[in-house]
Amino acid sequence: MTTPPSTPLDFSYETRPARVVFRPGAAVTATPGEVARLGLHRVLVVCGGRGEETARSVADALGDSCAGLHAGARMHVPAEVADKAVEVARATGADGCVAVGGGSAIGLGKAIALRTGLPLIAVPSTYSGSEMTSVWGLTENGVKSTGRDTRVQPRSVVYDPELTLGLPVPLSVTSGINALAHAAEALYAPDRSPLVSLMAEEGVRAMAGALPEVAAAPGDPEARGRALYGAWLCGACLGATTMGLHHKLCHVLGGTFGLPHAETHTVVLPYVLAHNAPAAPDAIAVLSRALATDDVPHALRELAGGLGAPRTLAELGLREADLAPAAEQVAAQSYPNPREVTAHGVLGLLTAAYEGWEPRG
Ligand code: NAD
Repeated sequence: MTTPPSTPLDFSYETRPARVVFRPGAAVTATPGEVARLGLHRVLVVCGGRGEETARSVADALGDSCAGLHAGARMHVPAEVADKAVEVARATGADGCVAVGGGSAIGLGKAIALRTGLPLIAVPSTYSGSEMTSVWGLTENGVKSTGRDTRVQPRSVVYDPELTLGLPVPLSVTSGINALAHAAEALYAPDRSPLVSLMAEEGVRAMAGALPEVAAAPGDPEARGRALYGAWLCGACLGATTMGLHHKLCHVLGGTFGLPHAETHTVVLPYVLAHNAPAAPDAIAVLSRALATDDVPHALRELAGGLGAPRTLAELGLREADLAPAAEQVAAQSYPNPREVTAHGVLGLLTAAYEGWEPRG
């Protein structure tokens, strides 16, 4: 018996031109080839302070094709950080950019691409998925704005599981759940399609299976490879669809209330899925299959919490007095979601996530 399609057979799907190379060691062995394939001769390598050593090895492998290394990336791409990087790219005469690191480093590469039109190559070292999207983000005066632009979509993505061997377990777990959130919301996105649903299901299965293995043996290259494979698929779902309540809520909690990105996704996801479940039975059915459970919100919360991830918004520093303003802000914006978004409904789910109650719809 074949599995019935989980999405209506009425869709549009666009394939964007991006090349993916996935191989242990690829950061050093494949990046120079990707630079050459794009006809580039002087690329600027960008990274964050903690990722400088890894980025240096990529820069060294590039030899004469490297115009310089700029280790200025910071979380949420502050405008002055973007300005500085653009200045460095122009001063070095770079004809392209290679971003090595997590979502913050790739975000800085995207800021350069957006302003200068330089082609971007991404070498990700977390499971954030930014490398598979045309979404950019920039923070100015404490307010984060995001947009979509094909210029920032990396032309080539080099996935190297070896880069993630040193990703600390707590960050591996929360970054992995961040990836699962992309797949989960893609399953009920208005622009979902059968191919996205297949990628989402396989991505969730791979990531959820890999995380306990990564936590038990962080240096196991095979477990790391499976997690990164899941991150690729989940990131591709993010790039192909429009996200709903979960991503909007995390955006507000991070942008306005300063909560950490991956940890916030981890705490909030089970509560949003419990909230949306009655209006998204097909998405929940796919997630149930992928997670081998009949209670998706509970299973996700146990997966992350059982591996030591935070379970409440209170632990992340949110104050009780922030709940109502956050709910108002999330309800005031417009974005697609399977269930109607009201301030009352969001406040209910935020309160449950703040207290750490069992997620229920
Ligand atoms: P991050 O890039 O900020 O990295 C978190 C920390 O982990 C940093 O200190 C970093 O130096 C360190 N780190 C990264 N890789 C490491 C490794 N392999 N070993 C050891 N340490 C490592 O965090 P993130 O969660 O990857 O990215 C979050 C940012 O990306 C946010 O700003 C978010 O908004 C953005 N994002 C954007 C998109 C998009 O499509 N535009 C998608 C997802 C996330």
